[in-house]
Amino acid sequence: MIPYGKQDLNQSDIDAVVDVLKSNWLTQGPQVPAFEQSICDYTGARHAIAVNSATSALHIACLALDIGPGDRVWTSPITFVASANCALYCGAEVDFVDVDEATGNMCPAALASKLALAKQAGTLPRVVIPVHLCGHSCDMQAIAELAKEYGFRVIEDASHGIGGSYQGHKLGSCEFSDITVFSFHPVKIITSAEGGMATTNCASLAQKMAMFRSHGIIRDAGEMLRPDEGDWYYEQHQLGFNYRMTDMQAALGLSQMSRLDEFVAQRNTLAQQYDELLAELPVTQVAPLPDSFSARHLQVVRLHNASDRKSAFNAMRERGVHVHVHYFPVYLQPYYLNLGFTEGYCENAERFYQSILTLPLYPNLTNDELSHIAESLAECL
Ligand SMILES: *Cc1c(COP(=O)(O)O)cnc(C)c1O
Repeated sequence: MIPYGKQDLNQSDIDAVVDVLKSNWLTQGPQVPAFEQSICDYTGARHAIAVNSATSALHIACLALDIGPGDRVWTSPITFVASANCALYCGAEVDFVDVDEATGNMCPAALASKLALAKQAGTLPRVVIPVHLCGHSCDMQAIAELAKEYGFRVIEDASHGIGGSYQGHKLGSCEFSDITVFSFHPVKIITSAEGGMATTNCASLAQKMAMFRSHGIIRDAGEMLRPDEGDWYYEQHQLGFNYRMTDMQAALGLSQMSRLDEFVAQRNTLAQQYDELLAELPVTQVAPLPDSFSARHLQVVRLHNASDRKSAFNAMRERGVHVHVHYFPVYLQPYYLNLGFTEGYCENAERFYQSILTLPLYPNLTNDELSHIAESLAECL
């Protein structure tokens, strides 16, 4: 079976984890700040906060932006449920902005018209969370301009995107946003087993996220609200969580960082080969924006005839190709239907969903496997 994605670990990755196991620090040691620093160096962001998942990163990002009951958070319906759930964790309301049917990314025109209506109704969002589907950057310039006009903050869900760039800025640079989050789940671009990271250029957002990551506790003498009791003393200022990344995870993530560019280059080469192999088939690759470079997390193709999707999916799996679908629109999940969302809410998202198929894509996918996938797809269509 050829999976749709998988990790690539080498001996240095394994050694890095074993070294931590032999050290004094399984968690809260030197590997976590070292991994954070490497993310800052790579993306150009001033601060990076490592956590145990991108889901946690999204949660503390919303909390740091003071999202709570009565607030509205908007995201894309074509994403993993975590992009929307983070708002609900904070007691806020979540809503969905329709996507561009060609890319599956949040559509700036749909965002603009939804904002104009919300302004009239007095229901503007406090935070918008665009998602870089497949690692292809959203049109961040347009979204940032709307953020300025309507006064909302932006969290980029770049779970698919580390290693990519937009208008010459690395994803995670926060050039067009307040906070960016990455996921290091094994199917993503680099892995720390479970793990995530939030980047920002704002010192106070970084400080808040670090506090929420670890129980809402602070240890900096300058920040204490009560008299210092002694060296053992710390204070809890907020209701935080234990969202810390371990040193074993950070060591793995840090080791993987040294191969990030190589992984992304291989993924781009494979995507180009797919372009050539699938050129004659009734499918279109979901492509990145012209002024961007994609980390190529997922190889999503749109079938010209959406009614073929289910049979093609099943036939591909029968041929040993573990194709997938990214994603079922979040608001059609039973949990979200219970909140009042209905079918037809985002028409482009639903049409996009009906037509898509995710083909395998990961760094060590071989040429033979690639040919087998392309031949199988030709047969299945
Ligand atoms: C994987 C993913 C997440 C969640 O990442 P975890 O690290 O598994 O919590 C969030 N958003 C998107 C778009 C994802 O693909």
